[in-house]
Amino acid sequence: MLDVCLLGTGGMMPLPRRKLTSLMTRYNGSNFMIDCGEGTQVAVKEKGWSFKPIDVICFTHYHADHISGLPGLLLTMGNAERTETLTLIGPKGLVRVVQALRVIAPELPFDIQCIELTQPEEQIELCGYHITAFRVNHNVTCYGYSIEIKRGGKFDASRAKEQGIPLQYWNPLQKGQTIEADGKIYTPDMVLGPVRKGIKLTYTTDTRPVKSIAEHAKDSDLFICEGMYGEQDKEEKAKAHKHMTFREAALLAKEAQVKELWLTHYSPSLVRPEEALPEASKVFPNTIAARDRQSVELQFEEE
Ligand SMILES: [Zn+2]
Ligand SMILES: [Zn+2]
Repeated sequence: MLDVCLLGTGGMMPLPRRKLTSLMTRYNGSNFMIDCGEGTQVAVKEKGWSFKPIDVICFTHYHADHISGLPGLLLTMGNAERTETLTLIGPKGLVRVVQALRVIAPELPFDIQCIELTQPEEQIELCGYHITAFRVNHNVTCYGYSIEIKRGGKFDASRAKEQGIPLQYWNPLQKGQTIEADGKIYTPDMVLGPVRKGIKLTYTTDTRPVKSIAEHAKDSDLFICEGMYGEQDKEEKAKAHKHMTFREAALLAKEAQVKELWLTHYSPSLVRPEEALPEASKVFPNTIAARDRQSVELQFEEE
């Protein structure tokens, strides 16, 4: 199960009742975050989730509404006595940006590892999360992210027995390890069924609707996408500022055949996003104009 919370839904600036867009997930005791603007740690607190187990923070890009909350969050994680290394992922320039922000958060009880993205697409495996970063189209270098929880085949005890595989090797084989023992080689495919469908979540904000988004969001259980502007007559504005309208986000969701679309990163001028929701839902019915702390537990499919 992947526990998902969209901490905020605002773009540009936090508002009294709308925090900046940021995603947090929990899986297997490891917390994961995408974007951390001003006030994101207040949103985490309101959700009631813990700062300490945040193992990975990804950044879409380095506009302040997506990263200016980082130094405060680092201090809070330090005060929670975190000692494990924290991994930060973001476009080229990450080390420089983090160094600059660390001037005001210099002493931390944990190390920070930075992964700078340089390719149009990169895959990273961390803490059970399979992360795909893909470049999108904003007025600075910007990436979208798909996170997947992969799921191996089901363990078949009767096959293991038939082949006379000693009991002590079952567990490591189930975990995908190959065992060499007693002059024999045991491989996971000897005891595992076909690979099962995992969980997939895609998050993109601050971008025009480009082909790579639909490709990477393909078959996502949940697609969280920016909808800076509600009404379609704002399309020219969306183009000029390299953002999207609700309808454009919905067209991507439809093309990618996702299960559900959550809109986010609303312009401060978009006071009641739900009023413009039909612009999206007439294209892609299963759309939600997300609210702060919109949450879901994504489950593995039943067998
Ligand atoms: Zn933004
Ligand atoms: Zn931006």
